[in-house]
Amino acid sequence: MGSPYRRRARLLVAVTAVVTGAAAAVLVAAGAQAAAPGCRVDYRVTNQWQGGFGADVTVTNLGDPLTGWRLTWSYAAGQQVGQAWNATVTQSGSQVTAVNVGHNGALATGGSASFGFTASWAGSNPVPASFAVNGTTCTGGVAPTTPPTTPPTTPPTTPPTTPPTTSAWNPPANLVTPLNQVWQHQEQTYNNGNLYGFRNYGWDQVMANRGYLNFCVRWDSSASVTAAQRDQIHAALARQYKKWMDVMVGHNAWPYSEVPIRVVGWAVRDRAQLQWSDTSVDIYVNNIRENAPQCSEPCGRFFNQNGQYPNCPGGVARHYDQSLWLTDGFGGGAGGDWGQRMGREYFMNNINAANMTILLHEIGHTFGLDDFYDWTPSGVGGFIMKAGSASAITEFDTWMFRDWWRHLKSRYGY
Ligand SMILES: [Zn+2]
Repeated sequence: MGSPYRRRARLLVAVTAVVTGAAAAVLVAAGAQAAAPGCRVDYRVTNQWQGGFGADVTVTNLGDPLTGWRLTWSYAAGQQVGQAWNATVTQSGSQVTAVNVGHNGALATGGSASFGFTASWAGSNPVPASFAVNGTTCTGGVAPTTPPTTPPTTPPTTPPTTPPTTSAWNPPANLVTPLNQVWQHQEQTYNNGNLYGFRNYGWDQVMANRGYLNFCVRWDSSASVTAAQRDQIHAALARQYKKWMDVMVGHNAWPYSEVPIRVVGWAVRDRAQLQWSDTSVDIYVNNIRENAPQCSEPCGRFFNQNGQYPNCPGGVARHYDQSLWLTDGFGGGAGGDWGQRMGREYFMNNINAANMTILLHEIGHTFGLDDFYDWTPSGVGGFIMKAGSASAITEFDTWMFRDWWRHLKSRYGY
């Protein structure tokens, strides 16, 4: 590879065949999801203070094995859920929905998963009367631990040690040590020890745009592309990207509820490979860099890190922040502030996969996440940034990702 792209490129020496098999298995499992004929929920208020409380919830599957679960309940007294961990919890009016995260979705018969959250209350804090899993009411018994029915007569005079709902950073306790190890390691090794001096992380790009990302597709391939394939490639890129962006929604003052992914340009060797005539994307023909087609450098963020694009014909609107670089016969992947690279065959063969593992891993690099070839943080198992150990974003990946925002957000005024 040529010079600019060697910067911050990391190689994922992945076994493509294994990855493909895992993705296929996920697809089959997703289609086979069935309703639970039986479930039990243990809803426990673990601590309560004036205006707030913390709760732990354990879902036990008493029916057929589940590949994913969605727990719903209703609050009768105006309680409002705030931060959650080990589940994605949303609330609409009195209705609360908790959906499994990547690592705790599979529940064998008799298996259980737990998650927690903080919430607000006023007046009273009754336990929900019933729960449902995947739409089926749990009849296996709701076993709440009754919280104090009245607020403590003497409210705590000091703030509770458990942060209330405005908490900015509340990873599960068992992840605090490994997260700190990872951050310390990154601070020591990034950009020759000057992590904060680098200004082109994916974070910088999203914030410079105020909440979107533009892409160039580098079609480093002799294959032709139909308009339908073009749109599928865009959709797959957006779908995978959303998995990372969604972990930020509502977290620690992150300002965007979504980060749209736009493809503004395609670079090819021969215009005849692209089988469309509409002008929905800019097309760059035979502009060869690093032996591969590339969109115009004056339009690229990598080459214009001040965010100004005076020589890009379409201006800021047609600039690209990252490249999706698809190369015939390329094994593994590479990722950095410039974008993500992987095999054209891998991408096209996995275009509908629930988790496109190599792409997810490389996007992690775009946002600063490290590789773990030579060490593993204490007490954590498989995760997507440790190549070959997980096929989807895990809770640990989620918190490593959020940690970047925690440490960088002040540069954007948050
Ligand atoms: Zn890597």
